[in-house]
Amino acid sequence: EKNIPGASARDLTPSYDWFQTDGLITIVVYTKQKDMNAELVIVDCQDKRLRGEIILADHSYLIELDLDHAVQEGFDVNIAEKVGKVEIVLKKKDNVHWKVLGRPLESHNTFIKRTDRGLFYRKCKLVSKTEVTHDTKLFCLMLPKSTHLQVPTGQHVYLKQVIAGTEVVKPYTPILPSLTLDFKQPSCHDGAHIYLMIKIYSCGLFTQALDRLQIGDYISVSSPEGNFKKSQVQTSEDLFLLAAGTGFTPMVKLLNFALTEVSCLRTVKLIFFNKKEDDILWRNQLEELALKDKRFEVQFVLSEPTKDWGGKQGKISLSLLSECVKRSRKDSKVLICICGPTPFTEQGVECLRDLGYSQEEMHAFTA
Ligand code: FAD
Ligand code: NAD
Repeated sequence: EKNIPGASARDLTPSYDWFQTDGLITIVVYTKQKDMNAELVIVDCQDKRLRGEIILADHSYLIELDLDHAVQEGFDVNIAEKVGKVEIVLKKKDNVHWKVLGRPLESHNTFIKRTDRGLFYRKCKLVSKTEVTHDTKLFCLMLPKSTHLQVPTGQHVYLKQVIAGTEVVKPYTPILPSLTLDFKQPSCHDGAHIYLMIKIYSCGLFTQALDRLQIGDYISVSSPEGNFKKSQVQTSEDLFLLAAGTGFTPMVKLLNFALTEVSCLRTVKLIFFNKKEDDILWRNQLEELALKDKRFEVQFVLSEPTKDWGGKQGKISLSLLSECVKRSRKDSKVLICICGPTPFTEQGVECLRDLGYSQEEMHAFTA
């Protein structure tokens, strides 16, 4: 098959069709992929403009149309995971017969590399802002009703604001509203909210502007990006999370995923590096979780402790990692995830390499 130039790529190109009833318009995308899931489908409908993106490995398929007639707010997305069929079900505003689905826009019905598509943004409403520590806040944003978007574990989004007349874009990693709630509770998994834990820097260009946002204000949020693969965790027995400061954010969903969905995991250890005690994010929740789940352990390391700190001190180093990162059994399968300031991540990766861990046993979160 590989000998026929272009043939395999053509065969994998998704296609779409549509049909209607009195009240509904159904768009069906045949992805030709077996393991579809809701995280791979991003749909936005603003006024009559419909944009449906389907992520297929490093490519994406796009439906982009100016619909023939108006539709109601909100829609359903149905996914037949095994056969790779995705349905977008729109509700007609008026009970009329549509002659065509709509007018194709520029990138309609294209299947290209994800990196070749520009980021798409939708405006989200700030619904709450709560203090986490003296300088860090939890922002809750609400997606529009006519957006279907779930940020996968290990991925980030970009926020965009106009600051002093210039568009500024920065990445942030969505988290869960808390670590210790019952994750089966529907309210936080309704897909309508995005939670961001953001440190406000006193001289920070973007975070100062964010901090000035009022409840009810809007901010542009991009579709998710990132190269972390859940499958890396699914096969591991020991998981180590090395986080510094807000580098904790990708660990939140990762922790939840590991402890609720990965049955082969024996140990999960978070080594959390901060300057001072009052910089530690969600300390109580982490300690509570460690009490609740025997597989989970947390260790705090401070680089600027006060005299009365009884725990570990210093920065990331070979000696510290050789002491804290150990396989639970001689040949257990291990994954080490690391996130923080760039020098922290780089030094961490270098130390781990020196300790004999392979590239496949590490994942560094970077931009
Ligand atoms: P800036 O104006 O860029 O400066 C921030 C502060 O750092 C200032 O005090 C400045 O003086 C200082 N500073 C700037 N550059 C340097 C430097 N090179 N060395 C030392 N000091 C410097 N942040 C979060 O809070 N939460 C998240 O979930 C999160 N997720 C991220 C995900 C990714 C993939 C990446 C790459 C970054 C993430 N960040 C996150 C960081 C975030 O994107 C911004 O960098 C951060 O909010 C600072 O933006 P700012 O414009 O306010 O600060
Ligand atoms: P911070 O300045 O409060 O430092 C926290 C700890 O990081 C320190 O106690 C120290 O142990 C370590 N550290 C800091 N600078 C170091 C250095 N030069 N060398 C070795 N170790 C060092 O951290 P912060 O202000 O919360 O910053 C968090 C960083 O994480 C930001 O740079 C942010 O961009 C990054 N981040 C990246 C991602 C991602 O790439 N996916 C996600 C979230 C946060």
